[in-house]
Amino acid sequence: MLSVERLSHSFRTGEEDTPVLHELSFRVEHGQMVALLGSSGSGKSTLLNLMAGLMKPTRGSILIAGQAIEKMNENRLAEFRRTHIGFIFQSYELIPHLTVRENVELPLVFQSVGSKERKERAMTLLQQVGIGDKSELFPSQLSGGQQQRVSIARSLITKPAIVFADEPTGNLDTKTEKEIIDLLIDLNQNSGITFVIVTHEHEVACRTQRILQLRDGFLIEDSGSQEGVAG
Ligand code: ADP
Ligand code: MG
Repeated sequence: MLSVERLSHSFRTGEEDTPVLHELSFRVEHGQMVALLGSSGSGKSTLLNLMAGLMKPTRGSILIAGQAIEKMNENRLAEFRRTHIGFIFQSYELIPHLTVRENVELPLVFQSVGSKERKERAMTLLQQVGIGDKSELFPSQLSGGQQQRVSIARSLITKPAIVFADEPTGNLDTKTEKEIIDLLIDLNQNSGITFVIVTHEHEVACRTQRILQLRDGFLIEDSGSQEGVAG
């Protein structure tokens, strides 16, 4: 499903290149739920953004469903992202003047899906994430946890092969955090969606099938690898 091969990334700051990711290699199988764990500044968001095609890596390769996304031109990558990749943000990133249902439908508008089908698919997903009764409200009328449910539904509406989530519970209290992680686990187990979830919280990471741990841009632990990460 996802293959990261000798991936390195540097940011150019002034005259200097600052390396933030160092030769990372790992694979994620179809249907897996993986946590990317590390303290602040360890490179989690950079890695996630590279895997989701939001940035180009300095070196190395990222294959999703067998296709090297770093080699795609801008148009091809934009199309690939729309059809294969879902993304969930810490701050939800909902559009305030659209209703919950319209927010969820939005990715399908860009795919020219007709309004009847859009509505049906959005309502099905809103029910699945537990807020079917909130479809005609606006984001500001919902709690943080409910807004993140909207964002999760929106990330799934295009039937992506893989969904990336960057600290999806970072703005939520502990009880709501648990409910959102429960929902993601349920979607993974019952719908077979592959998830990569960034977190700095060990308790969140421990609930997934596999933990990849970053420290200072190095992969220091892979709980799903028999051989460890050396070499
Ligand atoms: P995390 O998500 O684990 O907190 P990040 O991937 O955001 O870590 O950041 C990793 C390192 O890269 C940090 O030292 C950060 O300051 C640096 N960094 C992140 N984005 C940029 C950028 N756009 N330009 C320069 N440096 C950046
Ligand atoms: Mg981050």
